[in-house]
Amino acid sequence: MSTPVVDLVAPNGAKIALPTGLFINNEFVKSQSDGKIVSISPSDESEIASVEAAGPEDVDRAVKAARAALHSPEWGGISNTERGALIYKLADLLEAHKDTLATLEAWDNGKPFSVARDDDLGEAIAVLRYYAGWADKIHGLTIPTTPQKFAYTLKQPIGVCGKIIPWNFPIMMAVWKLGPALACGNTIVLKPAEQTPISILYFATLLQKAGFPPGVINIINGYGKEAGDALVTHPDVDKIAFTGSTVTARYIMKGASVNLKALTLETGGKSPLVIFEDADLDQAAKWGHLGIMYNQGQVCTSTSRILVHESVYQEYITRFKKITLENKIGNPFEDDTFQGPQVTRAQYDRILKYIATGKSEGAKLVTGGNPHKNIQGKGFYIEPTVFCDVKENMQIFQEEVFGPFVSITPFKAEQEAINLANGTSYGLGAALFSKDIERCHRVAASLESGMVWINSSNDSDIRVPFGGVKQSGVGRELGEAGLAAYSQTKAVHVNLGTLL
Ligand code: NAD
Repeated sequence: MSTPVVDLVAPNGAKIALPTGLFINNEFVKSQSDGKIVSISPSDESEIASVEAAGPEDVDRAVKAARAALHSPEWGGISNTERGALIYKLADLLEAHKDTLATLEAWDNGKPFSVARDDDLGEAIAVLRYYAGWADKIHGLTIPTTPQKFAYTLKQPIGVCGKIIPWNFPIMMAVWKLGPALACGNTIVLKPAEQTPISILYFATLLQKAGFPPGVINIINGYGKEAGDALVTHPDVDKIAFTGSTVTARYIMKGASVNLKALTLETGGKSPLVIFEDADLDQAAKWGHLGIMYNQGQVCTSTSRILVHESVYQEYITRFKKITLENKIGNPFEDDTFQGPQVTRAQYDRILKYIATGKSEGAKLVTGGNPHKNIQGKGFYIEPTVFCDVKENMQIFQEEVFGPFVSITPFKAEQEAINLANGTSYGLGAALFSKDIERCHRVAASLESGMVWINSSNDSDIRVPFGGVKQSGVGRELGEAGLAAYSQTKAVHVNLGTLL
């Protein structure tokens, strides 16, 4: 049964017709379990729309559609170049509908509209074009063995890929996972985060327009414990790619063991930023601030622990605080807003709890530490919060807060800085500032992380692998490495004359 389209008028005046159904087989349909998700604006706590939420029967329907599409003549039977052309088409459509998608993103996520449009959508478009270009450059090898044998490898799709994404970059996370999977010829069931269900529904209308055959990409909004779990444990899903918390990743690893699904997991972090005594302090303060406060601090790689050499410690704190106080907190639709509200009341409460923990653990509050009062007294706004004199054994040094919340710790020597940087269970990103080129490379090699930024922070690039070590994840996304997660290698042995 088809589902209603709701006519929305966004806070910036944009009029948007939003489908509300589950997107299965290129149609918007009702949930068989009658589940619903109500999307809430974190800016003023008002209701935006109610959309369908999938139950296990819907997940099964979507998986069946993806399975049928996998070897269909319209998808499995077309050339890699044609698949690339479809992905290029989708990128062009995203570009044409950028403002609408960014409006929906800013409305239910709370991020500034300009960030959604220029960064999230800008990157999503670039990722699609990057992987569209790869589509017909993915191939196997011929392998010399003996004169009696011809051996070669084929790169084949993994199959039906389940994708579970978070709420911090809804469209961008979807595209990071769709781009390489489509380039390799897989089919997809994507479950967005329940906190941000609306921009992805508009995105689904663009999939129809781009001309993807039915069943290739299915998008089912739903809750983690229902739709997410049903996808992870479904026996006909071949792979799960997940971004979210480490706690959920552990459940996923267990659930996926039912049929030994392939896994890519990108989880949490507590990434360090190390500032040595010879650093350019101005640059270190600017990048350090952006590295944690960008996107309301809701970035898995945010450099949330700043480690500063004792000789520049006070000066660094002074400069960091100055930048923090200069940035505007407020309405995501105002041009000069740097920081919007946190995504949900749950995240807002969680951050306030960590602020209380920091105070009770004896860390020194430099600035912030309270809810931010906006004009209407509504919305999930928090003052950017800086703690210094944070010790390694404190909870706020060890645990991911996922908000505009940073801890600053002094150190005396290089090895001490490395030990502190490596002193958590996470290993996603790391950054360091120094003018000593030898030290930069030496320390980069010693940091336990999947990525290191030298003299910057969070300066990732879609052509470069992204992912973590330790409890920050399994596998890599983006770049050529991101393709490895979406094809499997088949070895073919051809007997050229050895008679039995
Ligand atoms: P989460 O891990 O619970 O949610 C991420 C995704 O997983 C969502 O789509 C959710 O529906 C799904 N999910 C939840 N439980 C599931 C299950 N049992 N089986 C299958 N799928 C399931 O994260 P959250 O509760 O939204 O946020 C909590 C914390 O996670 C944050 O404070 C932050 O520390 C971290 N987080 C990290 C990222 C990241 O980019 N690495 C993103 C979001 C949240």
